[in-house]
Amino acid sequence: MDFSDQKISVIGAARSGLAAAVVLKNLGAEPFLSEHGPESKYTEAKETLTKYDIRYEFGGHSDRVYDCRLMVTSPGVPADTEILTTAVSKNIKVISELELGFQLCGGKVLAVTGSNGKTTTTSLIGEIFSHSRLNSLVAGNIGNPFCAVARGIGIDDWAILEVSTFQLEWIDKFKPRVAVVLNITPDHLDRHGNMENYIALKLKIFSNQNGTDNAILNADDENLKAFDSISGKHEFSTAGEVDNGCFARDNTLYLCRKGNIQRVIDISEITIKGPHNLANACAAVACCAAAGIDIESINAGLKSFQGVEHRLEQVGLIGGVSFINDSKATNVDAVYWALQSVFSPVVLIAGGRDKDGDFSTLTELVREKVSNLVLIGEAADKIESVFKDVTRVIRADSLEGAVGIAYEKAGPDGVVLLSPACASFDMFDDFEHRGEAFKQAFNMLKEVSE
Ligand code: ADP
Repeated sequence: MDFSDQKISVIGAARSGLAAAVVLKNLGAEPFLSEHGPESKYTEAKETLTKYDIRYEFGGHSDRVYDCRLMVTSPGVPADTEILTTAVSKNIKVISELELGFQLCGGKVLAVTGSNGKTTTTSLIGEIFSHSRLNSLVAGNIGNPFCAVARGIGIDDWAILEVSTFQLEWIDKFKPRVAVVLNITPDHLDRHGNMENYIALKLKIFSNQNGTDNAILNADDENLKAFDSISGKHEFSTAGEVDNGCFARDNTLYLCRKGNIQRVIDISEITIKGPHNLANACAAVACCAAAGIDIESINAGLKSFQGVEHRLEQVGLIGGVSFINDSKATNVDAVYWALQSVFSPVVLIAGGRDKDGDFSTLTELVREKVSNLVLIGEAADKIESVFKDVTRVIRADSLEGAVGIAYEKAGPDGVVLLSPACASFDMFDDFEHRGEAFKQAFNMLKEVSE
């Protein structure tokens, strides 16, 4: 696509919007970046825009944004925002930064989406590729905007992309060679309205694929197994065998292709632990096999991958008590799997900004595994009302305070698990900030305890 001299509006000055504006400028276009947030919050973005001589406005969107034929929007902008609906009504083509990246990319795309496990699985796939003879890079929602790196990807190389539902909202030609939907559980329903919309958006990842591409689905997921008609379908399962894809049986992962079953690895040799990570591993194996990677490289990647920070991250021990940072567990399902992955009794630290989560789905697991529940943040009242008769509930004013209380309550050989089931924005900049605060509190406690 030729962007030279084209007026293109970019909505949003966060990481991906900024990357889109810069790449468009470098391609000879005339980008105009519009951000509704105040200029004072975007000092670094402003420096970049000035450096590249890109036109911009902060503090609201003026009518100047409609002076274009193409609009590139950021994932943070809801699809029903007036600026986007007006653009569509004016026949302006709206695309996401992901779509822009796809149009600029000369290589092959492997795309990973799902409610939970995207970062872990995308990183694991990147690790497996690094053991193979194929060139690849990991990008997308993982913090490395696709459009910024897309042009450098050669025809035989692979872009391994973490893709969010928000990025799928405005795709057009996006057609990954390999795409996987890991799972679908309620998340972001505040933005997508209902499960039907949410599922339809997730399945958009396959919408431009044809029989020569590979669509990989979770055979164990109630919301996904109905989609039989998808072409080029592969599956993965930790519960039973699949005809075309990866499955777990008798402590071993297998790959089945055209009726031919091959052993991939003993499950005990996979570094990341827990039933959800076994599902992520199966998904990664199915993706990598579909991309043509040999079993030896897949095996090596599964052994060498160490997991991702803030996802069931082992922080360390004080006395016999082990501390686990799962700050990325921003929804109820992630906490469900975290509790499935740890040995009881657990002191669970939870709370934050509620994402309309149904905490009651955790009741049985909390009863079985959680000796004490330490609550922080805005959602504390709501969570306490669900669990007050299920386990001992304690309130804390800060995460640091919660860590101290949790340590006192954890018995010898106990586990302190931060797995909040909520977003972090009521007390922290983001989940990374929350996870760092947890680790800092751990370090301070360790210093005074030893
Ligand atoms: P995402 O990028 O989709 O948010 P992450 O890999 O960052 O996923 O993990 C987010 C949270 O979800 C972590 O708490 C992690 O332990 C949990 N998780 C990871 N994989 C799965 C899965 N397959 N199913 C449920 N929860 C998962």
